[in-house]
Amino acid sequence: MEILLVGAGLSGAVTARGLAEAGHRARIVESRDHVAGNCHTERDPETGVMVHVYGPHIFHTDDTGVWDYVTRFARFRPYKNRVKATTRGEVFSLPVNLHTINQFYRKTLRPDEARAFIEEQADTSITDPQSFEEQALRFVGPDLYEAFFKGYTLKQWGLHPRELPASILKRLPVRFSYDDNYFAHAHQGMPEEGYTALVEKILDHPGISVELNTRFSRDMGAGADHVFYSGPLDGYFDYQLGHLGYRTLDFERFTYQGDWQGCAVMNYGEEDVPFTRITEHKHFAPWEEHAGSVLYREYSRACAPGDIPYYPIRQLREKALLADYVALAERTSGVTFLGRLGTYRYLDMDVTIREALNVVEMFNTRGADAMPAFAVPPL
Ligand code: FAD
Ligand code: UDP
Repeated sequence: MEILLVGAGLSGAVTARGLAEAGHRARIVESRDHVAGNCHTERDPETGVMVHVYGPHIFHTDDTGVWDYVTRFARFRPYKNRVKATTRGEVFSLPVNLHTINQFYRKTLRPDEARAFIEEQADTSITDPQSFEEQALRFVGPDLYEAFFKGYTLKQWGLHPRELPASILKRLPVRFSYDDNYFAHAHQGMPEEGYTALVEKILDHPGISVELNTRFSRDMGAGADHVFYSGPLDGYFDYQLGHLGYRTLDFERFTYQGDWQGCAVMNYGEEDVPFTRITEHKHFAPWEEHAGSVLYREYSRACAPGDIPYYPIRQLREKALLADYVALAERTSGVTFLGRLGTYRYLDMDVTIREALNVVEMFNTRGADAMPAFAVPPL
């Protein structure tokens, strides 16, 4: 069959590969001038540093099938994400761990003592935290919340933590040990030659063709047996019901001769520092040596038409609009919506790959006519 795919990010690439391996012809259209979507990496010509062009990406997963899949196409180097945070004139370790607690409170607590101490700080009257703020007050108490989470979250989301769901903070652990690994997953690493080389390898199959600098229009689907669309869900329908809300990011690039901050990611917890974090890209490839350095100051703001959508907001207004777009999509035949934009969800790379592998299996089992608009419901 002839399949049209929109977007050459991980969703489009993994789906195309699966279809091509099953004997179909996969034609991808991609509006950007490169593949790999938001995990695109490229070497800075001046310093040789591998830059994570759309923000820092660390691969981490508990899904051994996905790990086996990516390591088929690229060599991964061991990499542990160790994030630091500057707040109140000091540098702390994240996620909140025993070192953070002892440094912050000027104490030398052992694990059990720290657990009891933090429980004393916590608001135990909150039994079922609903908002980000309640989750923070219940699990770390007001001092750590104010220092590390309140200002950062206001900057990141443009909303008070009272208005955000607890699920956002639940992505971060609180540890009563000195383990400062940001992710607690079985597999973690960095593709040696960057994510774009990984995606290029996935796309390297005679059944796959990629057209860059090509924006999808609905008439392109006419000759195809099915369309897999990983662009923005509202964009597919020309925003006819309105725009789904996103946060976008601005990266202020600067260079330095030497080592600017000594780590890959430094978060800034305070509200009066206008950026959320600084990324020093060469620290994502500690096996390489570069005299020069490339850094990004990262600013978050509301996404306007024409900006790159990064984080779906998924508040009440967006969920209502999303429901309307989902209903519209379900009345449209011949298209399956996937990926972080097509389903309007925050998806880590491993989840993106797993969902793409599953959608291919569904297609190969059911055939084009029985494909739903969404393999995973966005609501
Ligand atoms: P995308 O990568 O967005 O790809 C979609 C592609 O479709 C894009 O290339 C776009 O140009 C193209 N497109 C859109 N509309 C059209 C159109 N109309 N016509 C043609 N082409 C179109 N995940 C992790 O696992 N670890 C991390 O550390 C991590 N860090 C992140 C940091 C940031 C700042 C962000 C925003 C995300 C991060 N992620 C991370 C998530 C990761 O970026 C996603 O999992 C991944 O990009 C999803 O791939 P995708 O193919 O669904 O979407
Ligand atoms: N967060 C924070 N301070 C930090 C890091 C994270 O307040 O130093 C909050 C912020 O609201 C963020 C959420 O915790 O969106 C989840 O953190 P994660 O590192 O998963 O951020 P993301 O991947 O969303 O950038």
